[in-house]
Amino acid sequence: MLVSAKEMLQKAKAGHYAVGQFNINNLEWTKAILLTAQENNSPVILGVSEGAGKYMAGYKTVVGMVNGMLEELNITVPVALHLDHGSYDGCMKCIEAGFSSIMFDGSHYPIEENVAKTKELVQICAEKGLSLEAEVGAIGGEEDGVIGKGECADPNECKAIADLGVDMLAAGIGNIHGKYPANWEGLSFETLDAIQQLTGEMPLVLHGGTGIPDDMIKKAIDLGVAKINVNTECQLVFAEATREYIEAGKDLQGKGFDPRKLLAPGAEAIKAKVKEKMELFGSVNKA
Ligand SMILES: [Zn+2]
Repeated sequence: MLVSAKEMLQKAKAGHYAVGQFNINNLEWTKAILLTAQENNSPVILGVSEGAGKYMAGYKTVVGMVNGMLEELNITVPVALHLDHGSYDGCMKCIEAGFSSIMFDGSHYPIEENVAKTKELVQICAEKGLSLEAEVGAIGGEEDGVIGKGECADPNECKAIADLGVDMLAAGIGNIHGKYPANWEGLSFETLDAIQQLTGEMPLVLHGGTGIPDDMIKKAIDLGVAKINVNTECQLVFAEATREYIEAGKDLQGKGFDPRKLLAPGAEAIKAKVKEKMELFGSVNKA
């Protein structure tokens, strides 16, 4: 059964480790991540962007697929199904469809409007038992063009949003989505420290986990990050493994064209990457 991310993240924050949010794109992705979580006895958060939800034929399809796998694969570790960077409408749809966690990304609204909409969602999520992530200070990325430094959130705005009763808070600390440019200046630990001082027990979320050096990840966890989002990195290893298979001509040998064979190296690559991240984040054996 799906669970909210609230308890797993409170435990992570108290225990000084982080739970990975791994974004899913299809059945292979979902199965690879769930099996890896179970094998490593780790809690896990499955992230679904609005685009990926649409691609997978809608949120209800995703909920059906994930719930089916939890049962059929005997997954007993805590699993949250989480909307990533949701719009207000997207949040409403996922609440209705049976997600156990949502992120409302109101970072592009003026802070007053972000506060008002977040407040409404806090109420709804509390009634229905979902966990809610809010974002302060936009997290940069490819769609905004090439940038050397991601934005940094205002710690006082973080405190204002945290006080509304959200369960986890994403704040820009120089992190960005997608691959990091060569001239990236690194995470702003001063910003993270200032946010954590003001928000206390609130689990903090680090977006854009792909390509942040391991030592920076560890320091971020020490400073209160309890959830780390991984998306691009799984896509890269999946593509690389699939490329190798095709370039080796394996799809032309025997029944190598069978999708169950063709997609297997990519799925294995995702499993290896997820395991590596769970070890780095310290969530192994924390289920
Ligand atoms: Zn993000």
